[in-house]
Amino acid sequence: MARTEGTSPDPERVSLIELGPPSLGADEKDAIAAVLDSGWLTMGEHVRSFEAEFAALHGVDDAICVGSATAALQMSLQAFDVGPGDEVLVPSLTFVATANVVVHAGATPVFVDIDDPLVPHMSLADAERRLTERTKAITLVHYAGTTCDLPAWRDFADTHGLLLFEDAAHCAGMRGHGRLTEAAAFSFYSNKNMTTAEGGMLVVRDPERSDRARALRNHGLTASTLDRSSGRAAGYDVVDFGHNFRMDEIRAAIGRVQLTKLLAWNDARRAISARYRERLASAIPSVEVPFEGTRPTAAHIQPILLPLGTDRPKIASELRSARIQTSMHYPPIHRFDAYRRTYGERHLPTTEAFAARELTVPLHPKLTDDDVDRVVSSLADALASAR
Ligand SMILES: *Cc1c(COP(=O)(O)O)cnc(C)c1O
Repeated sequence: MARTEGTSPDPERVSLIELGPPSLGADEKDAIAAVLDSGWLTMGEHVRSFEAEFAALHGVDDAICVGSATAALQMSLQAFDVGPGDEVLVPSLTFVATANVVVHAGATPVFVDIDDPLVPHMSLADAERRLTERTKAITLVHYAGTTCDLPAWRDFADTHGLLLFEDAAHCAGMRGHGRLTEAAAFSFYSNKNMTTAEGGMLVVRDPERSDRARALRNHGLTASTLDRSSGRAAGYDVVDFGHNFRMDEIRAAIGRVQLTKLLAWNDARRAISARYRERLASAIPSVEVPFEGTRPTAAHIQPILLPLGTDRPKIASELRSARIQTSMHYPPIHRFDAYRRTYGERHLPTTEAFAARELTVPLHPKLTDDDVDRVVSSLADALASAR
């Protein structure tokens, strides 16, 4: 790694504070080895058990394990016939997958602004302004793992006859998702609150739609691989134009181990986030922290808002010199080249203002109080030298 700029302490002597490394250990290694020894590599008992255990932990009836949250989002749109001619309301302040799946469904993503930089969720008022006769669905994103106002969105969706989906990629371990909405998609990508390296889970409230989604995971086949190989099903029909969105046994086995640790990790994340909030308020009051500390959250990431006009790349580079990783969540989707070319120039002033000031600081369960304090004091130094 380049160490060119250097106001920091001797980089050899200071430990690296990572943004959000996965938590993995001997239990995961043992689980992988056991699957390899078993000889059954995909869509077997680990996948089924992972689904059941995930559903129980989240207080829902069933869950469908898939290769990614992106696949889960795609399946949910397809299972509810969102397609050509339809518009889907989505935030722009999210990972691009939220909108890409709408494009792949043949529908049109309609970007909705946020209300307030301190509550960077999609704005109900702006969503209302963007309704047309073609609006068919809404996809909520629980930014940073902090739950949107689900009852308010359910009311809004019902009032206007819309489907309501959740991109719950940041929310593993949080009960309540997938219960008030048509479907919720969770991610187990390697930087999420729990990981299977790549992976996701889809919760679909209606049992018939859930069955349809389950078939879509495996090419729209009526019988599963496990059913056929165990002789429970002789043949199969194809009832839908499905995909290969399956999960393998190796990753499901890792997921089952991670699931047993998830709630404790999320508690640790919330405690660390609370410490950031408290430390930043006393040490750098010009830095704002989105959301009140009281909202339900999985504390997936720690966004902060730098003072207006701060040179963010300079701050990030100073922190890098101090061996602290940072990131930015998110470059707004409506500003990406492919979206501008296809849907034209859009302006979402509050999203753009938020994105211009946002910096994501390290947050993961193994972060110590000293680490948090080092991030805050290094940030204070960086802001002072950038002034
Ligand atoms: C990570 C993420 C996704 C995509 O998840 P994958 O499992 O990598 O497909 C989608 N939406 C949001 C908000 C994410 O953070």
